[in-house]
Amino acid sequence: TPTLNIIGGGMAGSEAAWQAAQMGVNVVIHEMRPKVETFAHRTGDLAEMVCSNSFRSDDSEQNAVGLLHWEMRAAGGIIMEMADKHALPAGGALAVDRDPFAQSVTAKLKSHPNISVSYEPVETLPTDGTWIIATGPLTSPGLAKAIAAETGQDALAFFDAIAPIIYFDTINMEKAWFQSRYDKGETEEERTAYLNCPMDKPTYEAFIDALLAAEKTEFKPGETAGYFDGCLPIEVMAERGRETLRFGPMKPVGLTNPHQPDIKAHAIVQLRRDNALGTLFNIVGFQTKMKYGAQKQVLRMIPGLEEAQFARLGGIHRNTFINSPTLLDAQIRLKSQPHLRFAGQITGVEGYVESAAMGLLAGRFAAAELLGQSIQPPPPETAMGALVTHITGGADAKTFQPMNVNFGLFPPVDAKGGRRNRATRYKLYTDRAKQAWSQWLDHARLDAA
Ligand code: FAD
Repeated sequence: TPTLNIIGGGMAGSEAAWQAAQMGVNVVIHEMRPKVETFAHRTGDLAEMVCSNSFRSDDSEQNAVGLLHWEMRAAGGIIMEMADKHALPAGGALAVDRDPFAQSVTAKLKSHPNISVSYEPVETLPTDGTWIIATGPLTSPGLAKAIAAETGQDALAFFDAIAPIIYFDTINMEKAWFQSRYDKGETEEERTAYLNCPMDKPTYEAFIDALLAAEKTEFKPGETAGYFDGCLPIEVMAERGRETLRFGPMKPVGLTNPHQPDIKAHAIVQLRRDNALGTLFNIVGFQTKMKYGAQKQVLRMIPGLEEAQFARLGGIHRNTFINSPTLLDAQIRLKSQPHLRFAGQITGVEGYVESAAMGLLAGRFAAAELLGQSIQPPPPETAMGALVTHITGGADAKTFQPMNVNFGLFPPVDAKGGRRNRATRYKLYTDRAKQAWSQWLDHARLDAA
């Protein structure tokens, strides 16, 4: 039986291994943890979620990432199966109990007869065999250097920030309350998945002042150039305008304070449950690069969080990604070394779900190749196809930045000037995608048979 080697057992590597093993090839996952640690991972588990515990919207009719969930479930993906198994109530989002999730992905992969795991780092580019490189945003420096040398460019890197996590029992519930925005959710648990902290105008103004004045981690010149817009630190949002946060993560809409039902809050900070036990809550959208001491002081200005204890403070992270539009072919192979495929965040997609999705494709492509077959890439009408088409050619190579899945990547459903409302349009996108994805899966099955 032919063998596929995968470097990195994260979101992408785990899904790639599962897909390839299910198609009948042998898989060896090479994972450096726990031997070599990263600053963000805490365990030696495969598929560890390093920051937020959310897979974002699970709405497969109106949301592109929800559609990606749907496509991965239809393809028998291990990441979605285990995310569903360990889902936490979160309104319309798919939040996950991170530790049991990663543990069950690890156990299921290791018990597959075709999969083995080698707990060693790989620090050079393999010269023969069939490989997938899925080493993620925190690719080890040695391997990153080897990739940079082969691709003839400096490894691109930028910084994102991590949102702080707070112990529930240190939150003052005489000020905070449970409620999902617009009471969204099917069950009572979902309708109360968020915890809210209200601010009046003077508190908000003082908070913004403190945020602007707080000591932040210093960057070297040029390091901040690549901030990803979807993950801006709160202090950077505040720098863009005093009202920016009130229209972003602190917007005071769709929520009613039961402690003061007659007073409309000027701003509201939301926290989301971070584990099944309900003992940890993360502050939604509050990525930050404030220094630890300053962070505690500023965040304790939030009503309800005066006595907050932090399970994890916000921090800064590096990202590593290649210029996929110039370097990769449509099968996500390195053009200069086609025995090497890339998958996950390192290809320039952004997010757990998108990373796992690229792993799913890479695993299937590689397995088919090893079995003497080939699979056409999925059409761009699907979420999978839209993403992979974007990174392997759709994106402008000169301005290439990490990308979340979104309907902007899909071929338009409306001719120019079409005037259907958004909900109707999104439903057309998702209906069309589901049909195309089901057809692609059927063909892939035929090809593989
Ligand atoms: P990973 O899941 O990181 O997997 C890569 C694996 O490769 C790791 O297990 C690593 O140990 C291993 N590895 C690295 N180098 C080597 C080597 N040389 N040899 C062997 N093994 C190696 N996305 C979200 O959707 N939500 C978030 O909240 C979020 N927060 C993030 C916070 C931080 C600090 C970081 C760094 C990223 C965050 N991301 C987030 C982005 C990204 O989606 C996740 O990092 C995701 O896990 C990427 O999946 P991946 O499989 O590409 O990489």
